[in-house]
Amino acid sequence: QGYYALSRWPALLASLPEPVFFQQEGTVILWHRQDAGEAKRFSALLAAVGERLPHLPKPQQLDAQALAELEPSLAGRFGQGLYLPQEGQLDNRQLLAALLAKLRQHGVEVEWGRPWDLEQARAWQEQTGGWVLDCRGLGSRKEWGGQAPLRGVRGEVVRLYAPEVSLRRPTRLLHPRYPIYIAPKPGHLFVVGATEIESEDRSPVSVRSALELLSAAYAVHPAFAEARILELGSQCRPTLADHLPAVVERSPRLLQINGLYRHGFLISPAIHDAVLEYLHHGSCRLAQQLGIPFQVQAAPLAGESLSPCVS
Ligand SMILES: Cc1cc2nc3c(=O)[nH]c(=O)nc-3n(C[C@H](O)[C@H](O)[C@H](O)COP(=O)(O)OP(=O)(O)OC[C@H]3O[C@@H](n4cnc5c(N)ncnc54)[C@H](O)[C@@H]3O)c2cc1C
Repeated sequence: QGYYALSRWPALLASLPEPVFFQQEGTVILWHRQDAGEAKRFSALLAAVGERLPHLPKPQQLDAQALAELEPSLAGRFGQGLYLPQEGQLDNRQLLAALLAKLRQHGVEVEWGRPWDLEQARAWQEQTGGWVLDCRGLGSRKEWGGQAPLRGVRGEVVRLYAPEVSLRRPTRLLHPRYPIYIAPKPGHLFVVGATEIESEDRSPVSVRSALELLSAAYAVHPAFAEARILELGSQCRPTLADHLPAVVERSPRLLQINGLYRHGFLISPAIHDAVLEYLHHGSCRLAQQLGIPFQVQAAPLAGESLSPCVS
């Protein structure tokens, strides 16, 4: 899904009325000597994915010199690393602003701060005959019950301004509990994230998480010591048991799209295209091809009788 989405982002962004920073310069993966076991496990995981999906670009081993050529500001700091070519990155905030501008261009009415429940959406659908795309995340938890309930996974990020640091591409630091990334944005801004905690606590960032994220940044480049902390943020990601996204036609022409977990921006073009294919052609060919679980009404007007969508 991610690889497909990566190929779609340039065209999608080109259709927006405002610029959105996007680059496909790959990712560098680093680890401390004491996390060599984690690096071995991660490499084995990449190898297994590469065998299953041979069209994916192969990870490249980096020695100190190759790393220095790729990211000059990291020269002399790490003796080895991995390079994942073609991985991409975009500015999520610019994207949301550009999407809103596009909606306004189309004259779409946008309502803020007005919660809807499923019954209201269903009533609207029946009245208008239109489509409802329910993307309420944890707000639609009620309908995602059963054996695989929707849950929140807490994530925390730090936003830094570090004029003395230059990184060309996102850098990930392997960590025993979760991989930490440092994503450069234009203007020496850096987003360092993200924790992954099995909790629906939405309170502010903890001291422990802030220490972990900031220490990771400092370990990658000591000039982060003089960075300014612009924001500390926390949120919960809507997550299904298998950590995969899912689409369910809860009643005719009412699709619930959820479980994007920590991959919302990474995979949304794949979900977008799969959903549009169903809306326009009643087909789930792409969803099947990309392994997106997609359940539809077994028979029109049957209500609540679901079956997997087959093309
Ligand atoms: C810390 C953190 C780090 C992340 N890092 C990455 C990353 O590196 N790469 C990546 O691709 N993605 C990342 N994400 C994004 C994440 O993957 C997505 O935000 C997530 O998958 C959920 O997206 P969503 O739009 O489905 O749901 P949400 O983002 O949860 O949005 C749901 C929206 O529905 C609204 N809502 C809820 N109830 C109602 C209601 N009753 N009526 C109307 N509106 C309602 C909510 O207010 C919210 O605005 C990160 C997220 C977090 C929190």
